[in-house]
Amino acid sequence: MSQAHSVDFSALPTDLLIGGTWRKGNGGEAIEVIDPASETVLASVANASIEDGIAAVDAASAVAAAWAATPPRQRGEILRRAYELMMARSEHFAVLIALENGKALPDARGEVAYAAEFFRWYAEEAVRVSGDITPSPSGNYRIMVQYQPIGVSVLVTPWNFPAAMATRKIGPALAAGCTCILKPATETPLTALAVAQLLEEAGVPPGVVNVVTTRSAGKVVGAMLRDPRVRKLSFTGSTEVGRILLREASHQVLNCSMELGGNAPFIVFEDADIDAALAGAMIAKMRNGGEACTAANRIYVHSAIYDRFAEQLAERMSQLVVGNGADPDSQCGPLINMAAVDKVQELVDGAVSHGAKIVTGGHRLNRPGFFYAPTVLRDVQKGAKMLEEEIFGPVAPLVRFSDEDEVIEAANATEYGLVSYVFTSDLARGLRVSDRLESGMVGLNRGLVSDPAAPFGGVKASGLGREGGQHGILEYMEAKYTALAW
Ligand code: NAP
Repeated sequence: MSQAHSVDFSALPTDLLIGGTWRKGNGGEAIEVIDPASETVLASVANASIEDGIAAVDAASAVAAAWAATPPRQRGEILRRAYELMMARSEHFAVLIALENGKALPDARGEVAYAAEFFRWYAEEAVRVSGDITPSPSGNYRIMVQYQPIGVSVLVTPWNFPAAMATRKIGPALAAGCTCILKPATETPLTALAVAQLLEEAGVPPGVVNVVTTRSAGKVVGAMLRDPRVRKLSFTGSTEVGRILLREASHQVLNCSMELGGNAPFIVFEDADIDAALAGAMIAKMRNGGEACTAANRIYVHSAIYDRFAEQLAERMSQLVVGNGADPDSQCGPLINMAAVDKVQELVDGAVSHGAKIVTGGHRLNRPGFFYAPTVLRDVQKGAKMLEEEIFGPVAPLVRFSDEDEVIEAANATEYGLVSYVFTSDLARGLRVSDRLESGMVGLNRGLVSDPAAPFGGVKASGLGREGGQHGILEYMEAKYTALAW
């Protein structure tokens, strides 16, 4: 293995950003950020109190009207500068993400490009929000619809994409004319703080983007959501926390965008191009070492090709180089923490006790850090918990099927509905199956669907609303209807 890359942690922002001032938190003991590859402390960041959270709402609220009145072209140009700055520093961001989150550098580089693209896309969308005017059915007046910024937005993000989940919210919020408070995940606050610093450099005025890191997410976010000046919650994270936040948001009947958990089925029909399906499975399963809401969680393979697919997938998985994400040779980094490793082990043990067979992996790695071996399990049986819950690790469970209706029924038998993957060379079948899959997104002969230009989001317990594309900016706007007569 070669030398792992690093960044100068002493030069990184670690304080709260409130109203354009970087300041300490009043929440008590600072938050230690742990390197999941070595279990050592990388840096400490501020711990916000409830009062700090409310101070961030004060700051966002004070400049809300001025930002909403800033010409869309000007807002777009600031976002465009943010895109350019992020791309110019892409390697710095990639190494920082690899260090605090653990993902391998190729994944981290992919995340930076994806994250920056939300700034570019919404720089372009800022000037393309159109309303409409139509005659009323009675013919007596006109129906004029315009879109206005919704107001102060609270943005809560997870640790698995520390940059992209922040930019996927900040980009459209700013383009729409909203000010915001970002509450990043406690495991990965450094990337979010670095993004906020970059936005300042790009020309975002003080108070438009505020960042609070805290050990008391429930209390601080809860207090902000009950502040009458806040009008919007955009959350990405687990369905469990999403449910709590929907309850919190109900007090003020806040507009909510919720990007929640997934349990993606990955279906390979007998007529699929097997090499393409294997390559797709590797991306859909192993991007971020399996720690993605879009991760293939259940791989259904037709009986006619099952053995061949299992053998070749196991070969590819066993060849992955596992190591410190910031080491240029690594292809699969550590998981985020020990609890994640324990959960993966429990799911693997449960599947095995239900009759599954380990083809490769199936165990944690005996070294410092939170490493788990890339794993393929075959003959995973209905009832195994890993087919029902997010695995969030490098484990590919294979399930055999022989009938189209049967596999669609199995794929839909979950409360989640974020994304599904289908591999077949018969386009008619591919579209027919896509239509019947209960998910917000489908990858048809593709293992990757995420694109800032496309509406990302789920159905059922995977969420509400869409991020990205033309839809994403409307999540931060309200339709205003004026009945016009003259
Ligand atoms: P999580 O535990 O739900 O946490 C997400 C965020 O919510 C973190 O910032 C967390 O802060 C905060 N939080 C936790 N409890 C809270 C509470 N009671 N009130 C307010 N905020 C609270 O999720 P995670 O473990 O970070 O991320 C993994 C999950 O995110 C997976 O389920 C994954 O599928 C989902 N995800 C979904 C998408 C999507 O687009 N659909 C994308 C990525 C990830 P702390 O860090 O301080 O706990």
